[in-house]
Amino acid sequence: DFPALMLDEDAGKVRASIRRLSEADLPAGDVLVRIDYSTLNYKDGLILNGLGRLVRTYPHVPGIDFAGTVEASDSAAYKPGDKVLLTGWRVGETHWGGFAAKARVKADWLVPLPEGLTARRAMAIGTAGFTAMLAINALEDHGLRPANGGDVLVTGAAGGLGSIAVVLLSKLGYAVAASTGRASQHDYLRGLGATSLIDRAEIGVAPPKPLLSERWSGVVDSVGGTTLANCVASLRMRAAVASCGNAGGVEFSGTVLPFLLRGASILGIDSVMCPLPRRLEAWKRLTELIPGELLDSLTEEARLSDLPELGGKILKGEIRGRVVVDVNR
Ligand code: NAP
Repeated sequence: DFPALMLDEDAGKVRASIRRLSEADLPAGDVLVRIDYSTLNYKDGLILNGLGRLVRTYPHVPGIDFAGTVEASDSAAYKPGDKVLLTGWRVGETHWGGFAAKARVKADWLVPLPEGLTARRAMAIGTAGFTAMLAINALEDHGLRPANGGDVLVTGAAGGLGSIAVVLLSKLGYAVAASTGRASQHDYLRGLGATSLIDRAEIGVAPPKPLLSERWSGVVDSVGGTTLANCVASLRMRAAVASCGNAGGVEFSGTVLPFLLRGASILGIDSVMCPLPRRLEAWKRLTELIPGELLDSLTEEARLSDLPELGGKILKGEIRGRVVVDVNR
């Protein structure tokens, strides 16, 4: 048997406990994976607290990401001993996930662990970092280039997605404006490569006019809400915001004038159902761009038993960088 963090629902309340499971308890799938590391994302925080109606059936094993080694496979694509990682596909939501020492999943959901990446570092990147890469790829597909000049803004910069976005943009040669609500994290963000720091409050208000001064050559937004509206109104000509998250709210309003007069765009970023070829391309680029030690420096390690507390903290914006979970401790 092996350990797992299980969620049960009792009178509308979700409660977590560590239990021992056997392989027979796991859901159907064609690949059994022995997990080395999982991680904590914002969505895990929602699920651990029973929010967002993401999980409909209990008992449930959460954890939207994992990395480990194939133990048994009915798929021609994988054999025992292969190193793999998984993000998305609603694993940890509608299918049991990575907060356990084993998982059984569909082969189609897996990505071979890129050469040069350990399971721990793959999870230090996790859904948050993978999404940051998708956002930057989308902005570059739209025309963003370092040579075009200007600042690329990252909102929620001290969080997981934001921290990795700052590292990636800096490595690619962009001037990175990092927005955070935590002045205590300014040195940390400079260490990741931010060239200027913005107070979250400054860009978190609904834009007082349809068009604000042209400021950002691109934006990686993990906050949403009025912050997203503000970013759209402050884009330079033909620039785009990659809308990745909702840590600050889901609703936003504004006028069409940034679209009509400045050719502004909002690019939607979905990591969950992202097709495999794009996943492989993003993981390859992540592996090439992120220096291992810098990644380690923004990562903390936790155990399964730490997750209920950490799930509360991430929703309050109190986690800095990324948390990896050693599921065997
Ligand atoms: P995270 O580590 O908690 O980062 C979120 C950051 O946003 C916080 O660290 C904080 O940064 C800022 N923030 C928190 N509450 C805020 C508020 N009320 N107003 C303004 N800023 C606030 O979470 P994450 O795992 O990086 O995820 C970030 C967001 O991206 C989440 O909404 C998540 O659901 C979304 N996401 C989406 C996808 C996708 O496929 N589209 C994938 C991954 C994540 P500062 O302290 O620096 O201000």
